[in-house]
Amino acid sequence: MPPGTVMTILEEPIKESLTLKNYIGGEWVESEGELVDVVNPATLKTLAKVPISTRDEIDAAVRAAREAFPEWRRTPPLARARCLFRLKELLEENFEVLSRIQTMEHGKTIDESRGETRRGIENVEVATGIPSLMMGQTAEDVASGIDEYLLRQPLGVFGLVCPFNFPFMVPLWFAPYAVATGNCIVMKPSSEDPISQIRIAELTEEAGIPPGVWNIVNGGRTVVSGMLDHPGIEGICFVGSTPVGRDVIYRRCGETGKRVVAMTGAKNFMLVMPDAVLDDTMASLMTSFYGNTGQRCLSGANLVIVGEGLNEREYSQFYDKVVDAFVDAAARITVGYGLDDTIQMGPVRDEGKKERIVGFIEKGLEEGAKLVLDGRNLRIQGPWPEDCFLNPSVFENVSPDMTIGREEIFGPVASLMRARTLEGAMEMVHSNPYGNSAAIFTQSGRWAREFQYGVECGNVGINIGIVAPMAFFPFSGMKDSFFGSLHGQGQEIIRFFTESKVVIQRWF
Ligand code: NAD
Repeated sequence: MPPGTVMTILEEPIKESLTLKNYIGGEWVESEGELVDVVNPATLKTLAKVPISTRDEIDAAVRAAREAFPEWRRTPPLARARCLFRLKELLEENFEVLSRIQTMEHGKTIDESRGETRRGIENVEVATGIPSLMMGQTAEDVASGIDEYLLRQPLGVFGLVCPFNFPFMVPLWFAPYAVATGNCIVMKPSSEDPISQIRIAELTEEAGIPPGVWNIVNGGRTVVSGMLDHPGIEGICFVGSTPVGRDVIYRRCGETGKRVVAMTGAKNFMLVMPDAVLDDTMASLMTSFYGNTGQRCLSGANLVIVGEGLNEREYSQFYDKVVDAFVDAAARITVGYGLDDTIQMGPVRDEGKKERIVGFIEKGLEEGAKLVLDGRNLRIQGPWPEDCFLNPSVFENVSPDMTIGREEIFGPVASLMRARTLEGAMEMVHSNPYGNSAAIFTQSGRWAREFQYGVECGNVGINIGIVAPMAFFPFSGMKDSFFGSLHGQGQEIIRFFTESKVVIQRWF
């Protein structure tokens, strides 16, 4: 902590351990399933007990959603939008509490949580535009006296399966659009940090969303397989890791004929060109690599230092300058409890995740990469147990085929790589199976154009390290980062949640 800084811990909104229930048909229902602890990764205090719900409980939720559907789909879109306007107001009124809950249950810093709350609310705001966003089309006189028009209609009930890393925002990439279009949902939050979604569900009740439209069933695989097999569910929205998204969700939806959006893992490359504005670039790279403790699907993972147009001597100087600046900035990141608003990076979600990340660090060393900053040497600000903490790590001399250069680490570990040309750097990006996001730092319009035009990934940054699309754009993804046809957020997810019905009418 810089001299003179005073550590203040913001008031915790969860004072005593909660016992979470399911929200089914407008009722808070105790589960028959086993209860597991939700633990604050910074303090190791138990925040809640969450049920691992049973197959019968997911069936009950689907039944409630199907019962609510006929009336909800007939509710005029403007009336549905009014509920969402009210929900937005309630989310704003509870903005700070909701943000602190995220920090407590996930570990991210309070500023990161506030950013997440804002991004989540923006999706509710965009969904309030539903009366015009789901309008159809009309063509008059497609033949003499015959008109043709297209309607967008809701389908029924959708299942939402959510990851741990954005417990507030990710479910809102889908839920507000699903209900705005007249569908009903059954959501399974991550059992690692479900409290934010419980709080949102309470607010949906206050916002006047009718019973059965927005349901929550807590749990794990049993709930997910119950959703996948259920004939009463029309489609699944999944965000999580590639093996689960591809081999469980996408595959099973194909077998059962359900619609599917599966937004999955990532390994994101950041390219620094010789003309990059270094100070700005470093600030952006730090939040990209270490923000959310590296647990973002948009996190920087591989930093490629590109020597396009430089001779050997110039490239070597440029490379050293970038490495020194990167390591220096990473070493200065303060680590501690996210409710201490002077810190810049929180813990990882749990001990198991920390062990997995440490395993990657060991693998990097085994495979010959050079560890120039070792985040296992803990420097934590405050009296917190060390179990879930890591400081930033930086590896040099990494190649894209090493384990740490290829696989998703999902933690605060950066792999620095060399490329002599932009073309060579892009080949490195393309050798990786993932295609979630990539960024270039340059002042050259030509290099930026070449990169954005050719790079095979869904979200592209130019002088921006966290390539998070606004709520009115799709949250894209390609290759092993996405399975399905339409993405979360905005117009695309509205298409996903509606069926196009085409009517041809002959006038007598
Ligand atoms: P995860 O795949 O472990 O879990 C995601 C969800 O699936 C959870 O609700 C979990 O309970 C459920 N689940 C886990 N295993 C299952 C199984 N075998 N069968 C059925 N359901 C199962 O993912 P996570 O660790 O919670 O989240 C991190 C992952 O999510 C990372 O890979 C990250 O890149 C990805 N992610 C992607 C995006 C994106 O937009 N592409 C956004 C956020 C996170």
